[in-house]
Amino acid sequence: MRRSFVGSLLLALVVSVALGGAVAQETKAPAFDGVAALRHVERLVAIGPRPAGSPAAAKTRRYIVDELKAARVSVKVEPFEADTPHGRLAMANVVAVLPGRRPDVILIGGHYDTKWFRELTFVGANDGGSSTALLIELARRLRERPREYTYWIVWFDGEEARETWTAADSLYGSRRMAAELARTHRLPRAVIVADMIGDRDLGIRREAASTPWLTDAIWASAARLGHGAHFLGGSLGVEDDHVPFLRHGVPATLLIDFDFPPWHTPEDTLDKVSARSLAVVGHVLLDALPAIEDGLTRSGPPRP
Ligand SMILES: [Zn+2]
Repeated sequence: MRRSFVGSLLLALVVSVALGGAVAQETKAPAFDGVAALRHVERLVAIGPRPAGSPAAAKTRRYIVDELKAARVSVKVEPFEADTPHGRLAMANVVAVLPGRRPDVILIGGHYDTKWFRELTFVGANDGGSSTALLIELARRLRERPREYTYWIVWFDGEEARETWTAADSLYGSRRMAAELARTHRLPRAVIVADMIGDRDLGIRREAASTPWLTDAIWASAARLGHGAHFLGGSLGVEDDHVPFLRHGVPATLLIDFDFPPWHTPEDTLDKVSARSLAVVGHVLLDALPAIEDGLTRSGPPRP
């Protein structure tokens, strides 16, 4: 791993010397780095199962915060307590703030907890790991190239149900954050959630309840970049961290590849995730942001 990294640096140096300034500029501000994202997944899986309220979840938060600080991204941890079927648990959302030229916020989020299981060892490489990793690299990228809108990158805690999924036992972090932002009139203008987007065999379908124009903007970018094979026709309904924001009237969309046989089994391991899938989703998201910003600007100021 380390060796091929040095190799590619050397190659980039040779190419930039050979081809001049334009390439050197590209080298300085690289596109979304799927290999770096996969490295995050590897380190997260090495922590082991990371259910909400556990010491491993705290360790995961520290990993995210340390990575952001190293990238000079401003970050805050927002602790809260959640009443669950397993009693009251200490949870925390992690929020990176990337100021743009205007204060209006686009939130890109995903969960970092892994589902708690009584008996099996579940390390959630794709389910929990892939979203956590994608968001770290997106934050790094948006720090390098600020955009018109302000971005909040959010790692939600407690997305997973402790027992069986219900309205009360699920989405602890996003429900908490959406309610708090609504109460203080600080809701974002749009929300994009990613979950289980690292599958080697990547096929994302439109999420049925998501805001159509937001989803369309992402699918248009996928087609333009030649990644249409991974962004499929047809739709399915999935409840995830975008739902609490939809309920508060915020345009929101979910990217999820739910056709993942190892889902919630001990087989959701590192070998199921690829740098390429992470890179495809990262590239497509970054490419879609200008169209999403334009859509928001055309739709006028937020409702009071
Ligand atoms: Zn899950």
